[in-house]
Amino acid sequence: MTAKTKIGIIICDRYRSCAGGKCFRALQNREGAFDIYKTDEEVELVGYTSCGGCPGGNIEYAPEEMKKNGAEIIHFATGFVVGYPPCPYIHHFKDFIEEKYGMKVVIGTHPIPQKYYITHSKLGTWNSTEWNKFIKPTLGDEEIRLDYN
Ligand code: SF4
Repeated sequence: MTAKTKIGIIICDRYRSCAGGKCFRALQNREGAFDIYKTDEEVELVGYTSCGGCPGGNIEYAPEEMKKNGAEIIHFATGFVVGYPPCPYIHHFKDFIEEKYGMKVVIGTHPIPQKYYITHSKLGTWNSTEWNKFIKPTLGDEEIRLDYN
């Protein structure tokens, strides 16, 4: 990893009009999935786009563009895991980008908002080893989830 880390963010197209407020705040504060970066580490966002809508046509091309801008890591926005239902293609997308472009994929951006946490907990959406792994970077604790509600 270089002194400056360049990243790209891909959001779920269901939230395509999102202005990215929670993602940018979390990046600035190194919260949620961005806590993997040290506070004194420079992180530059070099690409931000949506998946293109189900079944994610933009996943095939957007990472290439981000890589050309120097991105080393792609974050799937937290909307991928909190949507109703969460993205059913998430593991395919992750495997594809890592295999095709040799870039690391991190699932999540900002902490999961508490309102989504409550509903998905009741629905049992994340009751599997795989989904436990996918939500881990953005699960946080109740205090931070409420802060991003
Ligand atoms: S559910 Fe997945 S494929 Fe569908 S719009 Fe969201 S991220 Fe894209």
